Amino acid sequence: MRYGAIEAGGTKMVLAVADEELNILWRKTLPTRTPEETVPEMLAFFRENQVDALGIGSFGPLDLNPGSEHFGSITKTPKLSWRDYPLMQTFRDKLQIPCAVDTDVNAAALCEAQMGAGKGLKNCVYVTVGTGIGGGIYCEGQLVHGLMHPEVGHMLLRAHPQDPCPDGFCPYHKGCLEGVASGPAMEKRWGRSARELPPDHPAWALEAHYLAQMCMNLMMTVSPEKIILGGGVMGQEHLFPLIRKELVRLVNGYIPCMEDGEKLVVPPVCYPDSGLIGSLLLAKNAK
Ligand code: ADP
Ligand code: ZN
Repeated sequence: MRYGAIEAGGTKMVLAVADEELNILWRKTLPTRTPEETVPEMLAFFRENQVDALGIGSFGPLDLNPGSEHFGSITKTPKLSWRDYPLMQTFRDKLQIPCAVDTDVNAAALCEAQMGAGKGLKNCVYVTVGTGIGGGIYCEGQLVHGLMHPEVGHMLLRAHPQDPCPDGFCPYHKGCLEGVASGPAMEKRWGRSARELPPDHPAWALEAHYLAQMCMNLMMTVSPEKIILGGGVMGQEHLFPLIRKELVRLVNGYIPCMEDGEKLVVPPVCYPDSGLIGSLLLAKNAK
């Protein structure tokens, strides 16, 4: 039995084939061009390596309603050539094997919950802070779906009084989480890439404040035992203690069991492969 995985991103497609113990045997990365250009190359990789089931963790939004005729399609993406593309159906029809699909961040949450920072827990959230902000929710031992799927990056926040750009940059909601705290939002606010901002720059206290608001909202809604923060911006490790301290201040004693937040807000263990390994776990359960 061999499992295939696709981590489908807006800039690149990461493919992998693994054995039954999920040891990765082969992997391949392709740039994301149009489906007509990219998908045949992806199909060829899985045909060559003879996979028996496939899991896809994809950028979204996705139609994940099992009752919908468009189940497994990408929906409203700004990447126009992928809009309404029947992602899961295409691979299932062409490869004739069981396929499963979920958001890239739900896949990453599944990996971290079962094999990584949240191993053994029934409730945890994985959030990536990068070009966009997205979150996967693993609750009571299952990934959360629903009307669509969680869109943690678009939760509304309260603007900080000292934010020089309090309106935010999300084309849909302006000052939602992604609109104020993604890598590109930081770059627009401060006039240079987040990578180039030194650790003592005020950008980081503001970023920690917004990510702490997000953590508080998640704690008050889904009560995760861990909040796992990955993505390019979280490469700035000094953010973790700043976020925890700000979270404790915002929660203000309301949740007694969070202590200093050190066990609660943590980096991922399987990064940068959390989404890819999560997609292998999806393949294992594919029908
Ligand atoms: P993507 O979200 O596109 O998959 P990343 O998670 O690497 O990719 O996020 C890219 C964003 O994160 C960019 O806006 C970039 O400026 C920012 N970023 C990447 N690495 C770092 C870093 N080490 N420190 C701060 N910001 C970073
Ligand atoms: Zn938004």
